[in-house]
Amino acid sequence: MWLLLTILAVAAACGIHFRWRQKFRHQQRQLQADMEDFQRREQQTAVDAKAQQQVLFNSMLEGLLLLDRNRRIYLANRSFKNLFGLKTELRGKTVVEALRVPELAALVERVERDGQVFDYELKLPELSERWLQVNAAAIFNSAGEREGTILVFHDLTRLKQLERTREEFVANVSHELRTPLSLIKGYVETLLEGARNNPEVAERFLRIIERNAQRLDLLIQDLLTISALESGRVKLNVQPVELRPLAEKVFTDLKARAEEKDVKLVNQLNDLVAAADAHRLEQVFANLVDNAIKYGRTQGSVTVGGQKTDGGEIEVFVRDDGPGIPPEALDRVFERFYRVDKARSREQGGTGLGLSIVKHLVQNHGGEVWAKSEPGKGATFFFTLPDSKTKKF
Ligand code: ADP
Repeated sequence: MWLLLTILAVAAACGIHFRWRQKFRHQQRQLQADMEDFQRREQQTAVDAKAQQQVLFNSMLEGLLLLDRNRRIYLANRSFKNLFGLKTELRGKTVVEALRVPELAALVERVERDGQVFDYELKLPELSERWLQVNAAAIFNSAGEREGTILVFHDLTRLKQLERTREEFVANVSHELRTPLSLIKGYVETLLEGARNNPEVAERFLRIIERNAQRLDLLIQDLLTISALESGRVKLNVQPVELRPLAEKVFTDLKARAEEKDVKLVNQLNDLVAAADAHRLEQVFANLVDNAIKYGRTQGSVTVGGQKTDGGEIEVFVRDDGPGIPPEALDRVFERFYRVDKARSREQGGTGLGLSIVKHLVQNHGGEVWAKSEPGKGATFFFTLPDSKTKKF
């Protein structure tokens, strides 16, 4: 009896032990699987964070450069590589090895010494004159030891170019204003010193003064127009405009000038109707026809014509049979104050701003303007305008 009980107890104990071991093993396996899953997720999170960081750095407009404590590149984002025109892997290289800009290596040393440097301007002459602004700071760990350096680069090239254009413009304007002003001043002084007592001389000097005052007036009007166009203050009142009568009106206004040079004005425009601001379009025609008379041949002809293009636009031309424009100047004539022959333009009362105004006005209408010329065979100016039939009002 006791023996049987003992056997049963041992068997029960074995059964419990076996079940418990099984359960324990299962729990252990479960725990291990959970641990592995946790580790996998941790790793994935780290990979995701790194990828996100990379995306973030690469989407920055500014160039970013991180150096480790040995001044070797730890990270360089996409904008940085673009700024310096680099395609290779930079990690592990020094600034000098990677960029060959000694000034930057000196800047890193300065940052290490001073802790930070702001608004440092760096010029890269070999990369088609690039201007960069650099802000840099040393990075320290919690123990206060220097871990590395962070440098952020802004591209200032466009800003610098705009600044230069503005300076050039101011210098040009001052020069253009000074020429007629000094002439006026000179002749007034001569008159005051006694020339006024000779009526013939006085009359001649007063005519010169009048002509230069007119030039100043024209220049100021053109400058105001350019300024209004460039600042976007000119609002177009776009309506259907019949081109033939508009050109005819411009011809009537310029008739006296054409007759002075015995130039024939020919209107070949037919029933084209553009979507345009009539007053502004008249300015475009007037500038181009006036130039064609001014720079064209004495006893020559100026022809205005046009056609519809396949793209649903209207293309207008103004052609003369004068000496034409040299090939290298064909694009440049639309720049402010650019003249092929400075003396000739001034003598004709030109401000050097007419074609620049034409370009702005045509572009404001959504069109384009360009010139073609075969030297000795005249010049033709073309511009496009939206067709009133295809444009919605
Ligand atoms: P400007 O007041 O000097 O006429 P524009 O901007 O109207 O200024 O023209 C710029 C320059 O382009 C002129 O100085 C002239 O040298 C050249 N140009 C313009 N139109 C013609 C043309 N039809 N034939 C030859 N040269 C021209």
